[in-house]
Order: sequence, then C-alpha cells, then structure tokens
Amino acid sequence: MCPVPAPARTPSSHRLLTGGRVVTPEGVLSPGWIRLAGSTIDAVGTGGTPEQGPAATDLRGYWVLPGFVDMHVHGGGGTSFTQGPADDTRRAAEFHRQHGSTTIVASLVTAPLGDLEARVAMLAGLAGQDILAGIHLEGPFLSAARCGAQDPRYMVAPDVAAFERLHAAAAGHLRVITLAPELPGAAALNTAAARVGVIAAVGHTDATADVTAAAVDAGATHATHLFNGMRPLHHREPGPVGALLDRDEVTCEVIADGVHLHDTAIRLAARAAGPGRLVLITDAMAAAGMPDGSYRLGSMRVSVAGGVARLAVDDQPGPAGAGTAGPIAGSTATMADVVRHAVAAGLPVTEVAAAASTTPARVLGLGDRTGALRAGLAADLVVCDDEFRPRAVMRHGEWLTGNR
Ligand SMILES: [Zn+2]
Repeated sequence: MCPVPAPARTPSSHRLLTGGRVVTPEGVLSPGWIRLAGSTIDAVGTGGTPEQGPAATDLRGYWVLPGFVDMHVHGGGGTSFTQGPADDTRRAAEFHRQHGSTTIVASLVTAPLGDLEARVAMLAGLAGQDILAGIHLEGPFLSAARCGAQDPRYMVAPDVAAFERLHAAAAGHLRVITLAPELPGAAALNTAAARVGVIAAVGHTDATADVTAAAVDAGATHATHLFNGMRPLHHREPGPVGALLDRDEVTCEVIADGVHLHDTAIRLAARAAGPGRLVLITDAMAAAGMPDGSYRLGSMRVSVAGGVARLAVDDQPGPAGAGTAGPIAGSTATMADVVRHAVAAGLPVTEVAAAASTTPARVLGLGDRTGALRAGLAADLVVCDDEFRPRAVMRHGEWLTGNR
C-alpha cells in the first residue's frame, strides 16, 4: 500500500477518488486511489483511503478507466460533424463526452472537395476551442469498389495539391487522412501527409497485401476500421487486413460494437496486433443514442433498425436489388458501448483501456496530456459499474454527469 505523499499544493486544491478498481497502464489497482490537483492527476496509488487526505469520493464497487479517446466518429445524439451548423457539431461532441469520450476527433466522409474544405475550416474553429481534438478526413481519396456507405460519385484519385488545400483549411487541426493505397498518386499523398504530421491511414481499399505494404513503406501508419471497407483476408492474398496486422508500426482501428465484426475477428485482431497497436473506435453516426429511423451520413441516407445503421436501399450505388438491406453505415455505438462489448468478447480490461484511451492518445500525439490514469496527465476519466456502464465522466477535472 502506497501512502499519499505530502500534498504539493494547498489541501483545498486536491481531491481524492478512493476505493475503485483503477485501471492503469501497469495493471488494475484494486482498490486504488487517484489524487487530483485542479484539472490534472496529481498521484495514483494502491490501497484504501489514505489516513490523511483531502475530500474523498468513495468509488467502491466501480471501475475507474481513463477517459476514452475516439479518433473515428461522425456524430451522435441526433446530429453530426458531417453537416449542419456548428451547434450540431457541439451537440454531437457533447453527446459522446457524456458517454465517456473525453477526447474526440471529428471524422468527415467523402464529399465534393470544395464542400470538404469549408467543413474542415468550420471544424478547425471548434478544435481551436477544445471541443474537438482534431479532424479525420475519411475520403475523398477512396476506392469506389469498397465505398461502404460513402458516396462514390465524389471519390477522386489522391491529389497532393487538393490535400494541401484541405490541410491549410484545417489550420493545424487535420490529424488523420484515410486513403486507398491502390489509387494512382496514393504513394505521393501518403508521403506528403506523413511529412506534415498528418497520420496516413489505409482504408476503404481493394488493395492487395503487396500494395498495402508499399503504402506502409511510403508513410502509412494506421488502419481505418480494420476488416470493414477493405478486401477481406485470404490465405493466398491476405490483402490490407493481413498486411496491416503484419507491420509493427501500424495501429489498427476496430469497431467492436457487435455488429461490424464477429467477436472472433475482434480477438484475432487484438492478438495479432499485440499491446499498443489496437484502437477501439465507434465510427458512430448521428443515430448513436437515438431511436430507430432515418438519418443522414454526409450525402447518403441511412436507415436504422434494431440499432443497426444501413444505407437506405435506393441510395445504394450500383444495381442494388429491391428490398435488399444496404451496407452497414457507421455505428450507433458510444465508446462506452464498444468498451463494454470488447470486455464481454474476452479482452482483458487493461488491454481494452489501452485500446480505448492510451493507444489512440499516443497515435494522435496527445500521450503526454491524456489517455491514461497517470500522474501529470489530464484528469480525464470514466467511472463504470460492474457491467461497464458509464456512471460518471470527468474531463479536465470536472464531472460532466454528476458525481454518481
Ligand atoms: Zn467512418
């Protein structure tokens, strides 16, 4: 048991969270305590309530996880980042924060380049206000053959000049760009993105394993929702799935919502990627947290039934058969949902916390600010019950949903 060190500041500026099962990168402290100083984690330790300490909150019976870092999300709570006024973006971000995502990267889908530039500029303003941690461009340099729920009419070949315009419009807030490496010009774009510190991600792609490996050589370091929107793994042509898992420098997103991937695929990806390479995302759209019905994802109409979002049948590209269900179109999950599902699928809690918080924070270059319950980082945390339902969320030291 570690005694609380003497407070470095006045006791009134410190608070203690005690008794919970505290999930740290080194393991679960059960029970553990967290001492807060303002908006920052001041110290973390094992054991019961220290004898001398500031005002304490008793979290016995609860898990304490680092605040979730969702680096791929399009919207939630009825509004989205892809369309509508800035207030819609604020509301979608607030919805996900209330469900544990203390760090959010807003993802845009394929749209005409001029529209994307305007949208990126608007989101950049919100990133400057700490509402978003950045922007992810999921398009328009994608493969129409693996368009998923995105609009193939606006998919274009990778174009470094167009990327540079988008990057300039983002005013330093563009964090990730997803592109299909088999398209002409993709290697130059991977290199251009890496050069300016934008993560080049492989996704919505029909590339072979060899072409994907070449993209990693050219600067790609991340997989956009591994398995979904890409050529499947085959033992003689392992495609992007095999090539991306095979490279230690590549981090791999998975949508662990129980809809996009079989639990076996989640476990296989976690094992193959190993520690520090798996990233849980929601890929959520506006319908997250909302009833079944009709919604939009960029220019496409989406219908949600039983919590599963699919492209509306008459918006499907190509000769879709009447009455067939469209492709899955984003998720309706929150990060708390995918965390709960990943635990239920059998992933150890410490690995789930790494994939939901620590690894995406590191990928985004925020590892020295958030993503773990560790002294010196922001007091961003989620208190969950035994079923991993979020009961309280703290961001920068402030409770968002009340203290239980
Ligand atoms: Zn997406």
